[in-house]
Amino acid sequence: MEQEYDVVIIGSGLGGLLCGAILSKHGHSVCVLEMHSVVGGNLQTFVRKGCTFSTGMHYVGALDKGQVLHKIFNYLGVLNKVSFDKFDAACFDKVFIEGKEYWNVSGIENYKKALIGYFPDESVAIEKYISKLENVWNSNPILNFKEVDFEEYHRSEFLNEGLMDVINDITSNEELKAFLLSNNGLYAGIPSKTPFYIHALINFFFIQSAYKIRGGSGMLATALQEIIEEQKGVVLVNKKVTKINTEDGKAVSVVTADGQVIAGKSFFSNIHPAATLKLLDDGVFRKPYVTRIMSMENTVGSFVLYVVFKKKAFKHINSNIYYSKTKDVWGAVYTENEWPKGYMLYTTQDAKNPEYAESATVITFMKYADVKQWKETTIGKRGKAYLDFKTQKGNQLLQLVNEKYTEFIECMDAVYSSSPLTYRDYTGIPEGAMYGIAKDYNNALSAYISINTRVPNLFLTGQSIGIHGILGVAINALLASANKVDLRKLLKEIKSVE
Ligand SMILES: Cc1cc2nc3c(=O)[nH]c(=O)nc-3n(C[C@H](O)[C@H](O)[C@H](O)COP(=O)(O)OP(=O)(O)OC[C@H]3O[C@@H](n4cnc5c(N)ncnc54)[C@H](O)[C@@H]3O)c2cc1C
Repeated sequence: MEQEYDVVIIGSGLGGLLCGAILSKHGHSVCVLEMHSVVGGNLQTFVRKGCTFSTGMHYVGALDKGQVLHKIFNYLGVLNKVSFDKFDAACFDKVFIEGKEYWNVSGIENYKKALIGYFPDESVAIEKYISKLENVWNSNPILNFKEVDFEEYHRSEFLNEGLMDVINDITSNEELKAFLLSNNGLYAGIPSKTPFYIHALINFFFIQSAYKIRGGSGMLATALQEIIEEQKGVVLVNKKVTKINTEDGKAVSVVTADGQVIAGKSFFSNIHPAATLKLLDDGVFRKPYVTRIMSMENTVGSFVLYVVFKKKAFKHINSNIYYSKTKDVWGAVYTENEWPKGYMLYTTQDAKNPEYAESATVITFMKYADVKQWKETTIGKRGKAYLDFKTQKGNQLLQLVNEKYTEFIECMDAVYSSSPLTYRDYTGIPEGAMYGIAKDYNNALSAYISINTRVPNLFLTGQSIGIHGILGVAINALLASANKVDLRKLLKEIKSVE
C-alpha cells in the first residue's frame, strides 16, 4: 500500500466521475478505479469506418443558460471542455405513432402551444398535465437549489403515483395518451409499474431544452476525467476492484484484480448495488438487506444498430425520431411476434457535408431472456448462432426503419449491432439492463436503495440509486457528495453560476 486517498471511487461511470469531480474540486484526494481500458461506462464511445458512436448517452436537457444542467456543467468546468449542439428547438423530437407525425417543441410554453394545436379539445387536460410536470420538478430540492431535508426527500408524495394512473386521470383521449408516453424509451416504461415522477422529471428536463454532445458522450467522460486530474485526483483504468476490505465494520481498502491494495478514508461505489455487495465479505451486511438488493428487478436491455452511411446519401435530421407502429407505445413490453414495436433513431451530422448524416443509431428494447442462452460467452466469442440471431434481429429492425425512411437501407455502407450481452460485458451492469434497477410505484420502498450503507464510510452512487440518465445520476452524485462536502454551500455555489 502506497498512499491513503480521502476518497476511493469504484467505477468510472457518469456517477463516479461526477462524484470524483465534485469531491476533488473540494480538496479531497480522489482515486477512481475503472475495470476497462477506457473510462465512462455507458458514456463510452467507439469508432467504425471513421464514425464515432455513443453507446449510452447522446441527448441531454436543461442546458440553456440558467437551466440546471448548464449550471452544474458550468460549475464543474465541463462547458470549457465539451461542446453541445442544440436540437431543432421547433422539433427536438419527431414522433410517429400509427403513421401520424407529431413534434415535441422546446420551451414549456411552446411545447404547450404545440400540444394544444394537435389536440385542441384537450386543452384542459394539457394544462393539467403540464402543471403536474412542473409540480414534480419544483418539488425536487436539488433541481431548485433548495435546502435538502433528507428525511423528507425519500418520502416524496410522488413516489407512489403510477404513471398510467395520472395519465388516465388527466385524459381519456387514447391518441393524446400515446403521444405523451411516446418517449418512454427514455425510462424503459412499464405501464403497471413506472412511477409518474420518473416520466415527469425526464420529460420536463428535455422540454426545457435538448442538446446533443458534439463528438459523442466519450467527450463528457474525458472532460470529467481531466477535471479530476487537474485537481490532483487520479483515474486508473484496467483496475477491476475485486474486494472491499473492512475492519471493525468500516471499509479500509480495496483490492484490484492485479493484486494492488488501495487504501481510503471513504469509498464511493458507482457499480450496480448487487455487484458492490459481492465485493464484501459475508456478514458485513445483514442477510435481509443482501437478499433484497440481490433480488431487485432490473430494467429491460436494448438492441442497438450503429449504421455508417455512404457519403452524401442520407439527409441529417436535427431531431430524435420516436417511431411506434401502433398506439401501444410501450416498447419494453412485447411478445416475440410483436418485436420490435418501435424504435428511437438519431443521426450524426457529416461535418464536411452538414446537410447529410455520416451515421445513425437505432435503439429498441430487448429482454435479457432473449439472449440468455449465450450468457456464458464473452465479447467476440459468442459463436455463430448468436451472430445469426443478431443479423436476423438487425434485419427485422431495419425493415421497420425502412417503412418510414424508404431509402435508409439503400444508403447504408455498413451496420453493426449490440445486444444486452454487449452492455453487460462493457459496463458490468447485470443483464445489460439499460437503466439499472427498475422502479415500481406499487411498492416504492422495494426499489429504494439508500446512498448510505451500514458501512459508515461506504456510499452508493450511479443510476440504480435514484434515477438514471444524466439528470438522475447528477442529482444522486450531489446527494452522495453531501457525505463529504457541505451540500447547502455546494448548491449555493452551483446556483450562483450562469
Ligand atoms: C442505449 C442507451 C441510451 C441512453 N441514452 C441516454 C441519453 O440520451 N441521455 C441520458 O441522460 N441517459 C441515457 N442513457 C442512460 C445513461 O447512459 C446512464 O444512466 C448513465 O450513464 C449510468 O451511469 P452510472 O454512473 O450508473 O455508471 P455506469 O455507466 O453503469 O458505469 C459503471 C462503471 O463501473 C465500471 N465497473 C463495473 N464493475 C467494476 C469493478 N468491479 N471495478 C472497477 N470498475 C467497475 C464499469 O466498467 C463502468 O465503467 C442511456 C442508456 C442506454 C443503455
